[in-house]
Amino acid sequence: MDADVFGQVLGAARDFVRKEVVPREAEIDERDEIPAEIREKAAELGLFGWALPEEYGGLGLGMAEDVRLAIELGWTTPAFRSLFGTNNGIAGQAIVHHGTPEQRTHWLPRLAAGQAIASFALTEAEAGSDPGGLTSRAVRDGDRYRLSGTKRFITNAPLAEVFVAFARTDPESRGSHGISAFLVPAGAPGVTVGPHDAKMGQAGAWTSEVVFDDVELAGEALIGEEGKGFGIAMASLARGRLHIAALCVGLAERALAEAVEYARTARQGGRVIGEYQLVQALLAESHAELAAGRAMVHEAAAKYDSGEDRRLGPSSAKLFCTEMLGRVADRAVQVHGGTGYVRGVTVERIYRDARLFRIYEGTSEIQKLVIARQLLKG
Ligand SMILES: Cc1cc2nc3c(=O)[nH]c(=O)nc-3n(C[C@H](O)[C@H](O)[C@H](O)COP(=O)(O)OP(=O)(O)OC[C@H]3O[C@@H](n4cnc5c(N)ncnc54)[C@H](O)[C@@H]3O)c2cc1C
Repeated sequence: MDADVFGQVLGAARDFVRKEVVPREAEIDERDEIPAEIREKAAELGLFGWALPEEYGGLGLGMAEDVRLAIELGWTTPAFRSLFGTNNGIAGQAIVHHGTPEQRTHWLPRLAAGQAIASFALTEAEAGSDPGGLTSRAVRDGDRYRLSGTKRFITNAPLAEVFVAFARTDPESRGSHGISAFLVPAGAPGVTVGPHDAKMGQAGAWTSEVVFDDVELAGEALIGEEGKGFGIAMASLARGRLHIAALCVGLAERALAEAVEYARTARQGGRVIGEYQLVQALLAESHAELAAGRAMVHEAAAKYDSGEDRRLGPSSAKLFCTEMLGRVADRAVQVHGGTGYVRGVTVERIYRDARLFRIYEGTSEIQKLVIARQLLKG
């Protein structure tokens, strides 16, 4: 995207986040819901399609731009980003890169405009870190498929109009082989979405169990080639990992800013606590780690765009930045003392919200395995 136009997009997103979402964070956390006006304004700003191609109404941002936007979005509750994260990320990218021209024309303009939400349904009870263990199956029946299986923790499932769902099409296959990706309309007979989970943090972002009970799908519902679904899932997740790393940089910036402000103003022993060197150390360590994470994200994004590296960088950035955010959020609570442990105080919410990033889109342990495998590949 033209640099000036991107500057305007970034400025508008930044203003909206800081002026209109931040003041409603506590309400979003308490009500566990994103207000309709915020969804509408996010759609107007193009946020439902920042990573979708311009020809389908998206903003078509490359990875270097994506991470800059993610850092801005990270300043507020992650539930805000989550609302349109699946359209741009894990679900949307599968359609962009592997969808048929008909699938793209039908879904992408609606996703980019925020008229529809797409969810990515891969995880099952015994197939989380190891999605190759999934047992959902899609059985060919003439020119159609019949899909059955149960998915869990599916982000935006209660709002979704369509699922990018993964199921085994070759019953003889094991592991990553014989899995296919499908576009499943949420309203299709046999699709049931459970109530949304009560989570530790990120209230306002909804996840649910999704049951597919003998759902009949036309052959055109297949995304990409039959049996190649695992690769489709992994490619969507790699881009998402770098985006998540950048989001964590933004949230860490916010946590540190809250801690600095508190250290400047709260008093103990007749002095502002920022005058105590042990409090200063908490702030300084966070700043240094944050700077490292930010630099890492920008470098990994440049290499992603050039095609030099789309695996090692995203996994390394996700591992480092999600763990870094955990430490920065923890120190921010520490700087606040007892106040940091009280509901309604921003750093208390950030502490809870931050925990998820080390778990989803590949746990820290899985990122280490991905990184080591790349290193040892030779
Ligand atoms: C809020 C939320 C939103 C989510 N959104 C989505 C979504 O939209 N779509 C979707 O498909 N999924 C989604 N997920 C699922 C998420 O990606 C998984 O929870 C995650 O990958 C971990 O899988 P699991 O929960 O089954 O844990 P497990 O895989 O059972 O992990 C348990 C522990 O074992 C470790 N472990 C597992 N295997 C290994 C190994 N081989 N080596 C070393 N350690 C290992 C893990 O690191 C972890 O510490 C979401 C989850 C949450 C909580």
